[in-house]
Amino acid sequence: MQVPLPLKDTAVYWKNLAAIAGKVIGQAARTGPARLFSNAKQYPWLASFGSAPKLYHLLVGSRSGAYRQANARLLKAIFFHGAEAANTLFEQPERLVLNEDLVPPEILFAMGLNSWFVEYLGFLLPMLQPQLAEKYLDVADNAGVPPDICSLPRHIMGIAHAGDLPRPRAVITSNSPCDGGMASYTVLGRQLNVPVFHLDVPYNFYTQRAADYFVKQLENLIAWLEKHTPGRMDFDELARICQRRNAMMEAESNLWDMLRARPAPLAAEAVYLNHLWCFTVRPGTQEALSLMQDIARLAKENYDAQKGALEKEQARALLWGVWPVFLTPMWAWAEKTWGLSLIMDSLSFNRLSPIDTSSERSMLRDLGRHIMAGPMARHSRGPMENYFNDMFFAVENFDIDMLIMSGHIGCKNAQALNGILREKCRERGLPLLVMEYDLSDSRIVNEKGIHAQVDHFMENVMRVKRLGS
Ligand code: SF4
Repeated sequence: MQVPLPLKDTAVYWKNLAAIAGKVIGQAARTGPARLFSNAKQYPWLASFGSAPKLYHLLVGSRSGAYRQANARLLKAIFFHGAEAANTLFEQPERLVLNEDLVPPEILFAMGLNSWFVEYLGFLLPMLQPQLAEKYLDVADNAGVPPDICSLPRHIMGIAHAGDLPRPRAVITSNSPCDGGMASYTVLGRQLNVPVFHLDVPYNFYTQRAADYFVKQLENLIAWLEKHTPGRMDFDELARICQRRNAMMEAESNLWDMLRARPAPLAAEAVYLNHLWCFTVRPGTQEALSLMQDIARLAKENYDAQKGALEKEQARALLWGVWPVFLTPMWAWAEKTWGLSLIMDSLSFNRLSPIDTSSERSMLRDLGRHIMAGPMARHSRGPMENYFNDMFFAVENFDIDMLIMSGHIGCKNAQALNGILREKCRERGLPLLVMEYDLSDSRIVNEKGIHAQVDHFMENVMRVKRLGS
């Protein structure tokens, strides 16, 4: 017999869902039916927002207590922003700049420009409507984009080739994190016919020489943006943004400290998706700061009560690489089926220090350090130590029981290190699951195939019992 949900869990679910629905309906009413229709015609991916309740249900409905609240709070922030961001595309096109995920938008915000994080759709579409993402992958393939390029940039190139990417005033990108990602911006610049600025990240980016070099890069970027857009740099505003960003880092560091406890007070999306959204999409904004502080507070509720996010935490995992985005609810499934708790991932984990806001130069230097050590890039650039030192530090620090290595088929740079990784895990006695999938394309390995890999590993290597059996 199914145990009825506590009243509070039911209330959290419906209250947040109603708030999301209210926001979307409010924005649609503001836009008006005629414009709404023409926008949806111009950008067919807008319709994927219709699948938001399904994703919400899968990520929130299966969790309880403070963990449920954290997920509901996170999804509310993501969808609220999604509804507002869609409007900025249409209302202020002259202030719109497309920025690569490795070039966070603090400088754009300080210049009064609107940022549209290009890979936002690369993550959001496979989460909401995998079939639409696959359609764009086919468009890219048919346009001659090599099919062995990672499906994250390939997907974006498909959207650009289909003419479905918003046309901005300018595009800013970098030579990170990989060849495929870098090459995709040549295609975007050509398809959109707008100027593109490429930041040059040195190979060994943790050195002082690299930091000095990159300050010059950012100064050039600001001058370039002032030439090509109506944005003007306001360093006082940048200082306020960096201060809020530092406060976000402090709240996140408190959250991460609590994750070291067994059982962990929160897990999965409340950790990794929260980080991605706060630091890549909305860094230094009041909304991201409030979200991070709320999630840390919810973690503390569980932590103080010595309560885990999961009913039964049987194994704690570190994920290295990108998760199967089209199967984002897989962690909720793994929690219920195996008591498997995703504690941390490589896109979130970093050991960066806060930004010194005492001068214009110190802000650019420290922001530069953060940009150079962006997600994916910090582990796939420079000497091999950048990759393994962080990995095994995280294993120790978060008391990890097993490592899940993303076998995402397009991430060839990471796959090249798997032989060494196997040896290192064997030496440490750390169970390693190299999970094979494509991050956006469910036709390569589908849900059943991914679940089967986890089932096999948990049963035969981790030797834990399937819950409820
Ligand atoms: S997942 Fe790998 S291949 Fe894809 S964009 Fe990131 S670093 Fe590049």
